[in-house]
Order: sequence, then C-alpha cells, then structure tokens
Amino acid sequence: MMKASLPSDPGLRAAFEEALAGYREGGLPIGAALVHRGEVIARGRNRRVQDGNPILHAEMTCFQNAGRLSSVVYREATLYSTLSPCYMCGGASLLFGVPHFVVGESRTIRAADDWLRSRGTRVTIADDPACYELLQRFIAEQPGLWAEDIGEAGVHGRYTHAHPGA
Ligand SMILES: [Zn+2]
Repeated sequence: MMKASLPSDPGLRAAFEEALAGYREGGLPIGAALVHRGEVIARGRNRRVQDGNPILHAEMTCFQNAGRLSSVVYREATLYSTLSPCYMCGGASLLFGVPHFVVGESRTIRAADDWLRSRGTRVTIADDPACYELLQRFIAEQPGLWAEDIGEAGVHGRYTHAHPGA
C-alpha cells in the first residue's frame, strides 16, 4: 500500500505506526510519540473520529497516554508528530517544557513550527515521505474529514458522525 519506506528514526517510526493505525480505523492518520533518553515512553494518534473528540490530536493523546510525568522527564524528552503541530499541541509541549519537537512533515500544513522556535523549542523537520504520502492519501479519500480537522468551512452545524461507536 505504501510506496515510501518506514521512517528509520524509532520515535518517528512509532508516530507513523500510530498514524497508520488511525488510518485503518477510519480516523485522521496523524500520530505522535514521546521519547525519553532514546526510549519511546508514550504514543498516541488523532482520535477525532474514533472518540468524537476534537481536542484529541495525536500529541494530546500521546501526552494523555504518557500519564503524569515529572517535569524532569519532560525536559529531557523529544516529542514526535507525523505532521506540523497546531497551536494547541505546540502549547501543550511548551506548557510541559519539552525542549525538542520532531515534525514528520510540514508540506501538507505548517502551523506552529516558527512559533515554537520563537519560544525556544528546537524544531526538527524530518520531511519524511511516508508521513506525507499517508496523509495525502487520506486527504484525497476523505476531503470532508480533513477540512473539519483543520477548521475549514464547508460543512455547517454539528457533525453527525461524531460518535460512531457510542
Ligand atoms: Zn494539534
């Protein structure tokens, strides 16, 4: 199915695996991972569709899955996301003091990269072909869901598919 090979960086690979799992669930294929001292300590994926929850971006789910961590851990950690972070997720990484953000790709959308840099976060753009290819495939297949996730107009009112499993 994928033409591009998997990301070689273990953190980005974990994030990509989350994105792929999200795609297979019918959700937005965006994944995240938190790495501490070379170890993936948490991972998460966007759960807007799966949980009917618009704030569960991949990074937020990853922080949630990580549970309560010492500030010392956050300050030694790297957050990975398959896609350029939004201001909510960038804000969460600033709040917790994560000093390094690795972005899988920022070709599809570029949001808080420069803002994070201006606040002292080191931002690395991996420009990973697999992350880009997967999200582009999803956008071609589900343009309405993508527009919803990035807050573009086009669909009015509440989304009836917000709670698919409930
Ligand atoms: Zn976000």
